[in-house]
Amino acid sequence: MFGGTFDPVHLGHLRSAVEVREVLELDRLHMIPAPQPPLRDRPQVAPLTRLELLEAGIGDTPGLVADGRELERSGPSYTVDTLKELRQEYGDEARLVMVVGLDAFLRLGQWRDPQRLFELAHVVVLDRPDSPQHSHAPLPDAPWELLGDREVDSVAKLMQRPGGGLLHLRLPSRMAISATEIRRRLASGLSVRYLLAEAVERRIQAKHLYRG
Ligand code: ATP
Repeated sequence: MFGGTFDPVHLGHLRSAVEVREVLELDRLHMIPAPQPPLRDRPQVAPLTRLELLEAGIGDTPGLVADGRELERSGPSYTVDTLKELRQEYGDEARLVMVVGLDAFLRLGQWRDPQRLFELAHVVVLDRPDSPQHSHAPLPDAPWELLGDREVDSVAKLMQRPGGGLLHLRLPSRMAISATEIRRRLASGLSVRYLLAEAVERRIQAKHLYRG
């Protein structure tokens, strides 16, 4: 799974999703928008609209799934509940991976039931371009007490088991794109061309989203 606010989904998310799926040889990557992430400000755009943008961005990309399951829950949605559902659906033997950017990972200690997250799935941490570490270098501010000896240094070692491992991954194309910057540009009437999938940009313009 690759969760997020996706407010809006951009090419940093989508290209990372494609590359993670290739590198880990995943059958499927569920991209799951959170309706109201517990630890963040309210997203600017309604959950269903963010899901529509995600669907438009994914288009016919093989293996990527726009998954609206968290939108059906009332109240805040917790990743641990989503992983429990996925674990049930795919079974105990399936290899399940939770993908997070380094910025999200560093706050993982604040998430609901973080220890359980690590038990339910592998955690794969993506470098973002502004992060200083080199591939497989120790993570400086990571929630260490949660990690124990979970960290492995290769995809092969990670994928030997259904879950419980941690891998720090530096993907080939790390893109310095953030939704915050895209929202800022749209609110100021600046161009967002080539930061978003074309279909996503078209919808944002047609619906006058993020105009501030
Ligand atoms: P914002 O700027 O609003 O915080 P964001 O661009 O970081 O948004 P989120 O929806 O918060 O996007 O991110 C969802 C997940 O995608 C998080 O795990 C985040 O770390 C990761 N992510 C976001 N942008 C990138 C990127 N350019 N490359 C790799 N991972 C990213």
